[in-house]
Amino acid sequence: MAFVEDDIERVRASTSIVEIIQQYVALRKAGRNWVGLCPFHTEKSGSFNVREETGRYKCFGCQAAGDVFTFVQEIEHIDFVSSVEKLAARANITLTYTTGGESQDRQRRKKLISAMAEAVNWYHQRLLHSPDARAARDYLRDRGLAGDVARHFQLGYAPDEWDALSQHLVKKGFATDVLSDVGLAFTNKANRLQDSFRARIMFPIFSDNGDPVAFGGRILPGGADPAKYKNSSETKIYFKSKTLYGLNWAKNDVVKADQVIVCEGYTDVIGFHRSGVTRAVATCGTSLTEEHVRILKRFASKVVLAFDADAAGQGAAEKFYEWEKKYQVQVSVAKFPDGKDPGDLAISDPAALAAAIDEAVPFLGFRVNRVVSGKPLRSPEDRARLAAQAMEVINEHPDVNVRKLYAGEIAARVGLPVADLSRLAERRSAQPVVVAPVARGVGVSENAEFIAISLLLQSWDNIAPWLIEALFVSEIPRRAFLTLATASEIETGSLLNNALGIADPEVREILERAAVADIDVEPSSVALNLIGVTVRRILSQRTRIAIPEEIREDRDARVQLENLDNERTALAAAESLLMWLAARTFQPGGRGDNSEE
Ligand SMILES: [Zn+2]
Repeated sequence: MAFVEDDIERVRASTSIVEIIQQYVALRKAGRNWVGLCPFHTEKSGSFNVREETGRYKCFGCQAAGDVFTFVQEIEHIDFVSSVEKLAARANITLTYTTGGESQDRQRRKKLISAMAEAVNWYHQRLLHSPDARAARDYLRDRGLAGDVARHFQLGYAPDEWDALSQHLVKKGFATDVLSDVGLAFTNKANRLQDSFRARIMFPIFSDNGDPVAFGGRILPGGADPAKYKNSSETKIYFKSKTLYGLNWAKNDVVKADQVIVCEGYTDVIGFHRSGVTRAVATCGTSLTEEHVRILKRFASKVVLAFDADAAGQGAAEKFYEWEKKYQVQVSVAKFPDGKDPGDLAISDPAALAAAIDEAVPFLGFRVNRVVSGKPLRSPEDRARLAAQAMEVINEHPDVNVRKLYAGEIAARVGLPVADLSRLAERRSAQPVVVAPVARGVGVSENAEFIAISLLLQSWDNIAPWLIEALFVSEIPRRAFLTLATASEIETGSLLNNALGIADPEVREILERAAVADIDVEPSSVALNLIGVTVRRILSQRTRIAIPEEIREDRDARVQLENLDNERTALAAAESLLMWLAARTFQPGGRGDNSEE
């Protein structure tokens, strides 16, 4: 044993096991225990129990158990001695070492970290006070990174000199091999110690415990060095694939919100903090790794990507899905206005930054949106192409149910039968799928009607002239349509409120969903699609021999259906088909080929 036994017990007595575990696991009180999701195995319901009185934890799922020292050892992957040291430091207890003291590794690590801490401070003071840092201060002030922000994030400035930092650290008693081991300096060709960073704004990078382990250095605009950012190379205390910039500041909020935001750059993280969103971290010049996800999983189950996740392509997508499954995390993507990164938005529109996080969409939804948004849906060929492209992306996802649900959405959007696309989703063919354009006519779907209801609420003028009752074959959407039509005649108040005022419970439910649905389709194309579907259905449902006049009218309708698929003639055709439909539906005693028969 390396410490006096009394010390260990003193640390234990001064430490709340619930408080310590809560830094990693969200716990709720259940009787005398605290319960949460086990951090040592993957689970969906909480089997992990902690009890303050006994100072012990136990998982009934994986049998992990122990006291506060075991917990810290297991979760931080450190040895017993380090766990005692860590908790002692937290409780402000000075340990008495019995034999040999700390392990050599531990001592070396402490030495390296204390050199880093001295460098952080030295760079920081240079930034705040030195005349040669004026340009750096101006640059930071322009970007809202001066003052309290610079102090909170310990920003610094590395002067444009060969060895200013090295000289300072040597004077402070640090050995030269410490400086090179930690990546602050290197021995140059002239066999002299030279600083690694020069004429750069310095972003210190801390471990999640708050130990300084590395730097990211940014040149000033117009600087001589072509590399905009330079990061510390890996050292004994710094592993890029395991380090997330900002986690030390973010982790409390991450645990509280069960959500972590992953950015690309240091200034993005700071931008989020400045906008009041204090749960952002960044990878340090690498892409997100499995190690990162494993670390983040200890703190939260929801990961929001705040960078252009699509640029990483299909390979990245497959990794994300795999990690979602393996670590039981949900990956979603925040969408920012074009060309803006979080750092920019924090200055120009902090509210939009927070909103982008609230509105983050699941990763697959994001990928699918990329494929479908802004694409024309005029011709059957357009729709088929879109369906094929979307299904290719959807089929990257490993979960068949998820694939089917997305396939259903695409089916509604392009007007294909849900069953057709769902079948493609079941097979998950790696090959591009081929969808026959002719299939458009039948089987659409409450979904298309729901989209029409949604557009009525969101863009009445653009779709209302193209809709009639006969287009709604599903019962509740039909009643919703009639409710909206009635509500539209009330002159005061909003359409939605007026409609909710007269709606029955089922209609109310669909209206409430439709009002907030995120529909990104041209309203007229939705209407045209519904018209085409309805006319085809009626034509194919004739159950008795038609009279000659009907035969002529039906032939006209078929011609108009062709015209509906031609951009130039579509609107005129839609008008004439609406008249045809109205005549069919409203004739007393009817000509009898509507589905009510
Ligand atoms: Zn467990």
